[in-house]
Amino acid sequence: MKIVAGMFKHETNSFSPVPTRWKDFGPDGPLYGADAYRAFRHSGYSLSGLLDIAEEMGAEVTVPIAARCLPSGPVERDAFERLSDILCEAALGCDAMMLDLHGAMVAEGFPDGEGELLRRIRAARPGLPIGVSVDSHANFSDQFMNNCSVMPGYRTYPHTDMPETGRKAGRLLRDVLEGRLNPVTVAARVPMMPDMVKCLTDREPMSRLIAAADAAEAAGMPCMTVFTGFPLADTEDTCMTVVATANGDAEAARAAAQAIADLAWSLREDFRSAPFEPLAESMERAAAMEGPVILADFSDNCHSGGTMDSMAVVAAALERGLDGILAGPICDPQAVAEMIAAGVGATVTLDIGGKMPIPALKEPLVPLRLTGTVRTIALGRFTVEGPIFTGMPVDLGRCVVLDAGRVTLVVSEGRVEALDPLQYRIFGLEPTRYRYIVLKSKTNHRPAFLPLARGHVDCTGPGVATLDLLSLDYRHVRRPIFPLDRSNA
Ligand SMILES: [Zn+2]
Repeated sequence: MKIVAGMFKHETNSFSPVPTRWKDFGPDGPLYGADAYRAFRHSGYSLSGLLDIAEEMGAEVTVPIAARCLPSGPVERDAFERLSDILCEAALGCDAMMLDLHGAMVAEGFPDGEGELLRRIRAARPGLPIGVSVDSHANFSDQFMNNCSVMPGYRTYPHTDMPETGRKAGRLLRDVLEGRLNPVTVAARVPMMPDMVKCLTDREPMSRLIAAADAAEAAGMPCMTVFTGFPLADTEDTCMTVVATANGDAEAARAAAQAIADLAWSLREDFRSAPFEPLAESMERAAAMEGPVILADFSDNCHSGGTMDSMAVVAAALERGLDGILAGPICDPQAVAEMIAAGVGATVTLDIGGKMPIPALKEPLVPLRLTGTVRTIALGRFTVEGPIFTGMPVDLGRCVVLDAGRVTLVVSEGRVEALDPLQYRIFGLEPTRYRYIVLKSKTNHRPAFLPLARGHVDCTGPGVATLDLLSLDYRHVRRPIFPLDRSNA
């Protein structure tokens, strides 16, 4: 038995103008063969669990490619074609395939990236048994469903069961290969885009859907997944989808999936967050707190496709009269070049941020004009010390520290989410000496930065990583959909 295992994962923020290139799918592009196997064999990824089962089966296993990239804009056509060519070619010489895919990939020309990939593989090898481990944020399509054998998704968010889901996909595929499972899959769409924070699986309302899926499997359904969807990928498949795989009995799958879909729909108001707080009110709350206070500008974090050049939170802080603000890194290569040309010690007046056009935002990002002194010019290189992303190399390119009175800014050529206070300390800036720290992050800053702060305020600024779906200009999602069409969905 020859099994090909592989990974091609991207959660695409289709509103993001940040490009997703071939070289972004790994340290220097994707990993191949033995390198891919070594990197992921014993890892926290689904590929690790898929390989557990393939090796348990005594199969001859090859891993032609492993490619993963943080969320960003649509995958460039060239990268998509090259990756899918490698997997299609590998499919020719095997008896079965095991894939670690996300399910919310948008490629240039192919809004349903994984569906197109699987369609091509099956076109090259009709009927090839394929087991896929899928992220629960998948925008699940019929094309995906119709071109693979089994497709379990994660049960947890935050995702702590990736290897386990890989093993589940592997075991289901083994059942297919050994004739115990005749998989018949049915998907029930729920016409809503739930708020991502309401999809945390250890609390209501999402915990109720997970419990229902667990109960269906305990009652004998081979596989039942609730895909919450990824609302920042604007495609016609974007929504919550309940997917059931039965053993030969399509009607049983349909009934079980629809029952959970109906439950989800009845809970739709619970899948909405409270109205988002205007920035002026967030600044009012921050002003009343003891410092240091973290102002988390989550809508602009690059781990969700953010451009990291929104100045809205800094502008709101200055407007409120806040003092002692440390902010950045703000990604603005043009401002970096201007300040380097001026030199250390120079007084400059310039526009910072708001330079990348983002047509999808109803309220555009705008630059902030600041006057200040260029304090430091340096390369922004360091290695994350943890406690999360430990050992990850960071390269922000050339950076400039601008002292603009009430605010001190780090302006960079590159982007990184706020993972480590080193992003300030390497420039001689000690974050605990400031009263306010503006970070571009939703959750990943917490382990390293919360111990430094006394207060924390989530700030709903504009940006492509926003949780406020009503601020985005949706063009492709099937309408009506909740909450965009609240009244008639
Ligand atoms: Zn996910």
